[in-house]
Amino acid sequence: MRLTAVGTSGSFPGPGNSASCYLLTWQAEGRDWRVVLDLGSGALGALQAHVDPADLDAVVLSHLHPDHCLDMTGLYVHRIYDPRTFCDAGDGGEAPAAPVAEARADAGTQPLAAVPPPRTPLPVWGPGGTEQRIAWAHHTEPGLSPDADTAHPTDLGAAFDFRTLTDRAPFELGSAHFEPFLVRHPVECYALRVTTPDGGVVVYSGDTDECDGLDAASAGADVLLCEAAFEEDRDTVRGVHLTGLRAGRTAQRAGAARLVLTHIPPWTREHIVRAEAESAYSGPLDVAAPGASWDIPNGRNPL
Ligand SMILES: [Zn+2]
Ligand SMILES: [Zn+2]
Repeated sequence: MRLTAVGTSGSFPGPGNSASCYLLTWQAEGRDWRVVLDLGSGALGALQAHVDPADLDAVVLSHLHPDHCLDMTGLYVHRIYDPRTFCDAGDGGEAPAAPVAEARADAGTQPLAAVPPPRTPLPVWGPGGTEQRIAWAHHTEPGLSPDADTAHPTDLGAAFDFRTLTDRAPFELGSAHFEPFLVRHPVECYALRVTTPDGGVVVYSGDTDECDGLDAASAGADVLLCEAAFEEDRDTVRGVHLTGLRAGRTAQRAGAARLVLTHIPPWTREHIVRAEAESAYSGPLDVAAPGASWDIPNGRNPL
């Protein structure tokens, strides 16, 4: 399994770096698997440098802050209106009609190429309320638009199959084992422990301060992708984010084989959080950057 950093900026996008998004790719069951962890502000653009969004197998959202989920609105548009598959829903009209229907009218008497059926809704795991949250973010009333009668209803169910994350309730995707752990953040948020079909373990912290849930998720990780949004001497609020020091302590306690710091906002100094983490963690340490990737080694963690 390979972990690719798509967007690594904390809390909001930075110059040339979107908010949180990570891509897991692996082969199992005779095919490629592509799963996105978080799809924050701006991330759908960067994601397309790595994968066609039409080819995703699932999205897992750690929590519902905008820097982790807001580009689900763009992914909705992509799932519904992609001209390669968009049709006017002759099976009952669930998918809104527009481009292909208009193309048919324009085509006159020309025979039309067969239109593929709409895509199967994409599985999306997230905390309770994810569907409502994305619907709020996407839906816009037509208001005074003179073309209000052409407005399409938002039907998230046509694009996404929403599933609710529950603390320590695992699920399987492509012979990989995904286990969410409730962590310490002002809103419901989960760290994700992913065990590859080969027994490797990659852990994504989500947004969190130090806590038992993160420790449990991280135990024995081959790669711990861990947020470090705060600087120890500057950000004194607790229960929101890790500092570099607290991320390093977490990785050391976990016995993680590699620590990758991420979710560093533009106003946080990378060299500060790196030095903090290095003071507490003795293993190899990277700071995530967009486009960087890590292969998850096999076998240290037998299933
Ligand atoms: Zn965040
Ligand atoms: Zn957050």
